[in-house]
Amino acid sequence: TADTADILKVEGLTKTFGGLSANEDVSFSAPRGAICGLIGPNGAGKSTLFKALLGVHKPDRGRIIFDGIDITDISQQKRCRLGLCCTFQISESFSELSILEAVMVGAYSRTSSRAKARTDALVAIGEVGLTDLAHLRYSELNVFQRKKAELATALATNPKLLLLDELFAGCSLHEIAELIDLIGALNQRLGTTFIIVEHVLHVIMSLCSKVIVLESGRILEIGTPAEISTSPVVLAAYLGE
Ligand code: ADP
Ligand code: MG
Repeated sequence: TADTADILKVEGLTKTFGGLSANEDVSFSAPRGAICGLIGPNGAGKSTLFKALLGVHKPDRGRIIFDGIDITDISQQKRCRLGLCCTFQISESFSELSILEAVMVGAYSRTSSRAKARTDALVAIGEVGLTDLAHLRYSELNVFQRKKAELATALATNPKLLLLDELFAGCSLHEIAELIDLIGALNQRLGTTFIIVEHVLHVIMSLCSKVIVLESGRILEIGTPAEISTSPVVLAAYLGE
């Protein structure tokens, strides 16, 4: 099953909070090795969908098939070990950790050996170009360096599918351009599949081969960037925002 074309299949996912459907009957697939975009207005249900994929919360209905395995009912930790993860935001309480120590937290998800975790962390730090800063504390980093360090925490888990929820927030146009190149290079070099939530639409349009549009918890449209950017329903949803 590991070589099926789609690394992820989501079928009829529904999640309600109180009376409100944050996700309503959401179905889509992500091709193995692709960079997919997930877009939609504020409150459309993008983060809720990521949380269901990661196992942060349990959907009311629907199934999630990852790499041929039904993961709907398995824990967050086990999903991570199977290769489905997101970037870890380093909270203030950990801000005195060095980049290396913070990335080792990610690396420990697949080893209990300190030496192996350190080696894996250093590889991941190298992948994002922070080798020279590996011993700096998190509190000493600027926003852009933190974003790259967060990306390294995720890479250290050796993901097959990496979910990025607004990783680019707070970055300058120049930094965004650099992050686009970095993600494209990681996708090429490591074969990692990405699903990216991002408000800056040109990030989505330049990186993604498939775009999923959510509105009010439902799938509004799925297509290539060219199809999405000319879709009447998508244009109406965005212009009406
Ligand atoms: P997006 O990431 O697309 O901006 P979210 O997934 O964060 O949207 O939110 C979708 C909807 O679900 C919103 O109406 C939001 O208020 C609601 N929601 C999200 N998380 C919770 C929660 N834990 N409890 C109650 N409502 C929530
Ligand atoms: Mg969100």
